[in-house]
Amino acid sequence: MSGVASTTLHGEVAVVTIDSPPVNTMTREVRAGLKSSFESLRDNREVKAIVLACAGRTFLSGGDMREFDTGVQEPGYHEVLRLIEDSPVPVVAALHGTVMGGGVETALACHYRVAADVTRLGLPEITLGIIPGAGGTQRMPRLIGLEPALDMMLSGKPLTAQRALEIGLVDEVVSGELLPAAIAFARQLIAKGAGPRRTRERSVAGGERADEIIAARRAEVARTMRNRNSPNVLLDAVLASVRKPFDEGIAFERSLSIEVERAVEGRAFRHLFFGERELRKIPGIGADVKGRKVERVGIVGAGTMGGGIAMCFANAGIPVAIVDTAQANLDRGLATVRKNYERSVARGSLKTQQMAQRLALIQGSLDYADLGAADLIIEAVFENLALKKEIFARLDTVAKPGAVLGTNTSTLDIDEIAAVTTRPQDVIGLHFFSPANVMQLLEIVQTSRTAADVLMTALDVAKTIKKIGVVAKVCYGFIGNRMMDPYGREAERCVMEGATPERVDAALEGFGMAMGILAVYDMAGIDVGYLTRKERAHLLPKDPSFYRPTALLTERGWLGQKSGRGYYRYDGAYRKRTPDPEAIAMFREEAQRLGVPQRKPSAQEIQERCLYAMINEGTRLLEEGIALRASDIDMVYTAGYGFPHYRGGPMFYADTVGLKLILDKIVEFQKTLDPQYWQPSPLLEKLAREGKTFAAWQAEQAELAR
Ligand code: NAD
Repeated sequence: MSGVASTTLHGEVAVVTIDSPPVNTMTREVRAGLKSSFESLRDNREVKAIVLACAGRTFLSGGDMREFDTGVQEPGYHEVLRLIEDSPVPVVAALHGTVMGGGVETALACHYRVAADVTRLGLPEITLGIIPGAGGTQRMPRLIGLEPALDMMLSGKPLTAQRALEIGLVDEVVSGELLPAAIAFARQLIAKGAGPRRTRERSVAGGERADEIIAARRAEVARTMRNRNSPNVLLDAVLASVRKPFDEGIAFERSLSIEVERAVEGRAFRHLFFGERELRKIPGIGADVKGRKVERVGIVGAGTMGGGIAMCFANAGIPVAIVDTAQANLDRGLATVRKNYERSVARGSLKTQQMAQRLALIQGSLDYADLGAADLIIEAVFENLALKKEIFARLDTVAKPGAVLGTNTSTLDIDEIAAVTTRPQDVIGLHFFSPANVMQLLEIVQTSRTAADVLMTALDVAKTIKKIGVVAKVCYGFIGNRMMDPYGREAERCVMEGATPERVDAALEGFGMAMGILAVYDMAGIDVGYLTRKERAHLLPKDPSFYRPTALLTERGWLGQKSGRGYYRYDGAYRKRTPDPEAIAMFREEAQRLGVPQRKPSAQEIQERCLYAMINEGTRLLEEGIALRASDIDMVYTAGYGFPHYRGGPMFYADTVGLKLILDKIVEFQKTLDPQYWQPSPLLEKLAREGKTFAAWQAEQAELAR
């Protein structure tokens, strides 16, 4: 018998236990263990019922993601699940923990299901661009009906045990000990003479309305999951549960499932899944380097960012001292924090008592001495180098030895800030995004002197506050904003060439960006970029049309949503954006004045110009070592910049387009557009010439670093 599976007898009930830490993933070994256990029980006449359970923190948590790229090894899921379902005596699944994907599909192949009350069950495949491939699309509709099965599979969201009971996904919910309850359930089945109850033999409730139901869902996914293919494939598979006999349905699901696993969308989600696991691997820092402990946090500045950052820590149960210069500013900041929590309570996502606990963790103060107990202090005052230097000099005097000193600057040189302290090794950039309590991304900026354990502390902190922490080195704009620069430049240039803001944003949103860049500027405040560019004017091209639309809007005081107009007008209660003919006329006149040729770029050209400019800059970040890996850039863009996950991030997307094709286009733009902006990066040229991808390059670099 395999080491991960064991069978014990409890009278007439056999208990098969899987024990494969940490989370009982359905690896080849686990499947082999299940197979041998159920094979040997098949001929055991003394056993009248079987309980399938797992040791550790969860029932089978899901399939083995590593096998997507290598192919599933024997024994396959179908063979094992069929063996379980074919058992001549009833099989009861004893469910606990977080049961996802393949785990749920295994439970569906059992004849009965008993769940601990805190269990969560889900089929999350759609969130990975794939479909359930171990019978889920065929068994789930048969067990709970067409509509509930579609709800579960299209949302990918897990259900509580209670909800699973209501819809018939589980037969009993247990609040006490699970295993004895599951054995008792099995004994009752024996007493009643209840035999196996095979999901595959049931028909699908709601199947008679399948055409209508599936058509409505197709319309819904076209709207809510734009550009995606796997939701439609999922609907094809589920329809087969109504139309085809079970075995044919399973074969159909299998072929569709392999198709989506190999398609770009499936690969893109997997790339991000594995990309997240790479983030903690920092060249030169061994596994022996541990982060410092962070039990108390201090924040300087109770503004937009300071308040949001305080919430991140309070949400994780960590006490925060927040310091500002004047009582009024502090009061305003803390009131905003309270309002944010109250909104969550009103929405029902937070209990009043939780709000009170979190608010109690945030202590406002006007005295820097109150930061003395903090293990980590994050500065979030105005974006001004002289001010930040002054604050870091002060922090140097109040912070306890070994405290990590972070700055939330978006653009300033953190080496320079660190240099004013006597402990530059403890200084690091912690670049949160607005709203800080919501946005998933945290750029962790390593200066030339940041200590290894400080970097690890930042990565640990990111995890504690449930953010995706991506390490970058110091440069203007770090990873995210630096790549945003050429992207925005082209968008604005397209406006000067006669594309309306609406057309530019529609092209970018059509590609899948959460929001077009011009609408983003309106939301963030048009003046933000304008002011930073003004400060850096001496470093920027001497081109009067460079970012000209934003400059025009700022000069007019049309600063975006906050002033009711910017690239668009924002009228009415919902502040919905509508085109602004006056702004459009203003751009047109300015283009005429500056003699900008009116190309009226197509949607495709807008997409290519914006995205290829961004990708080219990403390649430079890799060359300069600002970003450690191409996949890190993809994590930044999908977690923080609304880049569609199903395209895997800009660098993964570039690989799917082909680097040669992108290079050719950049060279073409060099000839047809302004050549000063279209210089292909040497790394892009090299990879294109060699016919390589960023993924291959990244793998080579990792090999070299070993
Ligand atoms: P903000 O103007 O909303 O808040 C700044 C706060 O700092 C104010 O409450 C102010 O009273 C306080 N402050 C000023 N001097 C101080 C001092 N000496 N001691 C203590 N408090 C002081 O600014 P914000 O938007 O929260 O930005 C803060 C930082 O975060 C900036 O460096 C900014 O570049 C960066 N950032 C902002 C965003 C964003 O979208 N707002 C995003 C990422 C990073």
